[in-house]
Amino acid sequence: KRFVDMKFPKSVIKALAKKGIEKPSPIQMQGIPAVLMGRDMIGIAFTGSGKSIVFVLPLIMFCLEQEKKMPFLSNEGPYGLIIVPSRELAKQIRENIEYFCKYLETDDYPELRICLAIGGEIMSNAMQMIRKFLVMDEADRMVDMGFEEDVRTIYSYFKGQRQTLLFSATMPKKIQNFARSALVKPITVNV
Ligand code: AMP
Repeated sequence: KRFVDMKFPKSVIKALAKKGIEKPSPIQMQGIPAVLMGRDMIGIAFTGSGKSIVFVLPLIMFCLEQEKKMPFLSNEGPYGLIIVPSRELAKQIRENIEYFCKYLETDDYPELRICLAIGGEIMSNAMQMIRKFLVMDEADRMVDMGFEEDVRTIYSYFKGQRQTLLFSATMPKKIQNFARSALVKPITVNV
């Protein structure tokens, strides 16, 4: 499967090519079609595997589809939340999302808003309104850094239907147990 077969808009293909990304990496090849179909996913993968694109592009596409269908609902709350262990990584992911959004706007897609939440701000109200997507990146690092309780708290705010993606370089028991309780029939991609 190529990126064009994954039904991404031309502007996304162009944006990928500009970064030198022509051919999906193994985790992208297996993960993206499943995530686009709405499946939960466990990705056992390191930085460098191309894992970011597996959640960034489907989340952007979901936001754009929803905005197109019901633009008047865009103030109802975020479409998704990405939880990561460090500010640095959070900033990188925001830049990654902004990069694709900039290209999509040239194709007349609506503008999306991205909010970086760092420094322990209380977000529980906003999180209850999250409409679909939860991504946990570098889950093992979050546990190592002592954020397990925070992740569980954030997770407990989620109500109703959601799609959950969990990425981790390693799969210690703690994370396996959490994944078992939090994800529904996930596909596991190990690269
Ligand atoms: P990640 O593992 O998501 O942190 O990505 C690591 C680096 O690989 C980033 O600089 C990406 O732009 C790059 N990358 C991601 N997917 C591909 C791909 N399919 N081909 C070549 N480079 C890629």
